[in-house]
Amino acid sequence: MNVLDSFALNGRRALVTGGNRGLGRAFALALAEAGADVAIVARDASLNAQVVEELEARGRRGLAVQADITVKDQVTAMVAEVTSALGGIDILVNNAGIAIHRPALEVPDDEWQQVMDLNVTALWNTSTAVAPGMIAAGGGAIVNVGSMSAQIVNRPQWQASYNASKAAVHHLTRSLAAEWAPHGIRVNAIAPGYVKTEMAPVDRPEFRQNWILDAPLQRYATPEEIAPSVVYLASPATSFMTGTILLIDGGYSVY
Ligand code: NDP
Repeated sequence: MNVLDSFALNGRRALVTGGNRGLGRAFALALAEAGADVAIVARDASLNAQVVEELEARGRRGLAVQADITVKDQVTAMVAEVTSALGGIDILVNNAGIAIHRPALEVPDDEWQQVMDLNVTALWNTSTAVAPGMIAAGGGAIVNVGSMSAQIVNRPQWQASYNASKAAVHHLTRSLAAEWAPHGIRVNAIAPGYVKTEMAPVDRPEFRQNWILDAPLQRYATPEEIAPSVVYLASPATSFMTGTILLIDGGYSVY
């Protein structure tokens, strides 16, 4: 086998949460370009439909499910729909997430809960809904989207709930990697630095010093620069990797 063949995903079926914009869209399109049929789940139906068109333009099967993955029943129904439509799920990318900037003493209870519900509980519910099918099929690959914020504290904005939620994602990655390895399921995570999306206002002047100039590469990333790492972790190229957190931060956390 040629080494590049080990990165191919021909015949695989992938599910990407939050796949209708930003990083999730780039991940969905990259998985399709590597050969996978791809389902996305998110709430905005018109953005969902646009990504399905982009997936199909790459010659792959595209499917969108409109659902709020913070509601467990909707996760259960969504996973059943994707499994039935694609015939199974070999790759799960837990990407949907939210960040809210606010000093700790000003964070209302419901805002803390909103961050944990999406970044941690929805990832947990989606993983535990998809894993039984992977176990029955003999294995699969889960790629969680963590963050460098799991291991550094961002500044000048405060975002304690986000940072804590991503630390939970990283350790859940290691925990599920250990528990599901005997079933052939690999569980890894990526930990991006600043990436230009709706979530991260990378162009705001007040963030330039800390977000951009403090990083060795002195710039932010585009989603397309992060996507190849998701293909890598989803593919046989990483058949001996599990429980790994892949940091992709332009060198930000070396200091
Ligand atoms: P965006 O805000 O651009 O996209 C978030 C995605 O999640 C959208 O597709 C959104 O679709 C979906 N989503 C939000 N809430 C729900 C919900 N309740 N149910 C289903 N889908 C939902 O974020 P990014 O692309 O920037 O971030 C993607 C991931 O990358 C997140 O986990 C984030 O923490 C992580 N990350 C981002 C970094 C950055 O600098 N941008 C850096 C490090 C990590 P819809 O609203 O239609 O539901």
